[in-house]
Amino acid sequence: MPATWKGSSVTSTTSDRVRRVDIPRVVATLRQALPPSAAPVALHEPRLAGNEWRYAKECLDTGWVSSAGAFVERFEKMLAEFTGARRAVAVNNGTAALHICLLAAGVRPGDEVIVPALTFIATANAVAYCGATPHFADSEMATLGMDPRKLEEYLRDIAEVKAGTCFNRRTGARIAAVMPMHTFGHPVDLDALNEVCQRFSLPMVEDAAESLGSYYKGKHTGNVGRLSALSFNGNKTVTTGGGGAVLTNDEELGRMVKHVTTTARVPHKWAFLHDQVGYNYRLPNINAALGCAQMEQLPGFLRSKRALSERYQRLFADVSGVRVVTEQAHSRSNYWLNNILLDAECADQRDALLQATNESGLMTRPAWTLMHRLPMFRECPRMDLSTAEDIEARLVSIPSSAVLGEGC
Ligand SMILES: *Cc1c(COP(=O)(O)O)cnc(C)c1O
Repeated sequence: MPATWKGSSVTSTTSDRVRRVDIPRVVATLRQALPPSAAPVALHEPRLAGNEWRYAKECLDTGWVSSAGAFVERFEKMLAEFTGARRAVAVNNGTAALHICLLAAGVRPGDEVIVPALTFIATANAVAYCGATPHFADSEMATLGMDPRKLEEYLRDIAEVKAGTCFNRRTGARIAAVMPMHTFGHPVDLDALNEVCQRFSLPMVEDAAESLGSYYKGKHTGNVGRLSALSFNGNKTVTTGGGGAVLTNDEELGRMVKHVTTTARVPHKWAFLHDQVGYNYRLPNINAALGCAQMEQLPGFLRSKRALSERYQRLFADVSGVRVVTEQAHSRSNYWLNNILLDAECADQRDALLQATNESGLMTRPAWTLMHRLPMFRECPRMDLSTAEDIEARLVSIPSSAVLGEGC
């Protein structure tokens, strides 16, 4: 063993070198990175320090709290401007946004949609809402998101394109879309995935629920897919209490999404006319009011979150057995959630680490249970998922609220 290895971070056994994580040291390093606070530290809490009160009061004072009001349009404009997407349609949550993205991309009952196994449940649920089957793809270690090279190899093996439509030769089902997700705010390799999608005539939809403020090669995430979904749940970078949005650069799709998420009502002075089965997925004006106030603060949130991540990266550089997940050279992550990855040989210490941190008031969480392990998705088609399984086994999310980085 190199003499420079400190006894505190590496425990040697008598013969072979077994690297262990010094768990008390991880707890101490987290404490050192975070501002001193007696209260338990949450994983991600909202920061409501701007015009939230003022705008919400405006809604209350005027009575415009519900499904009509000026804040909805203002919020949509702010989102489109910030992301560079031609159109943003605000909806009541990110899951609804995903559902509508898939419907608008043409997903129909009986289809399959390729989604990562390593994702929040909403990604797979949205596919099921369409009567379609999620088909699980592996992640790559670098981005934690869908692996384009592995996807291509897999599709070469199982897929067949007939008259511009992609079929799964094993199940006979149409593969209707590919929906990668920008995991914890780290952009997937969009160019490579887009190429694979084009090669197999597959529309791409981006689950950008976690990546508001994340850029891939200088372009905001959510602009490569035909449509993409954002979430403004309470734990996301920007919150409206609950909410979401659909982004698209296709004006026609944008109009269609607005129509179908607002009960497909045909404009008329008084009559109730609806020209298709629509959804009441509207974002209430009072939530949009919060969203406008939050968007004003987004650049500040992103600065704080980056500062916090840099602090974690610096301090954990000296702790062996773990590393902080960082952005790729061509990407800019919003660092929505910071994560530490245990070395492969330390994976068996993940639960002890989760227990020690949570018991000392520092909230940490494992990665999501992979989708193919859940009872309702167990029988779904999937490729080899060994990297996703590896990430699941040794990833731990650590406190990441913007407020924690403000003093950095
Ligand atoms: C948060 C999130 C969603 C949407 O969640 P809602 O709570 O419905 O807003 C979708 N996908 C991923 C990956 C998410 O993290």
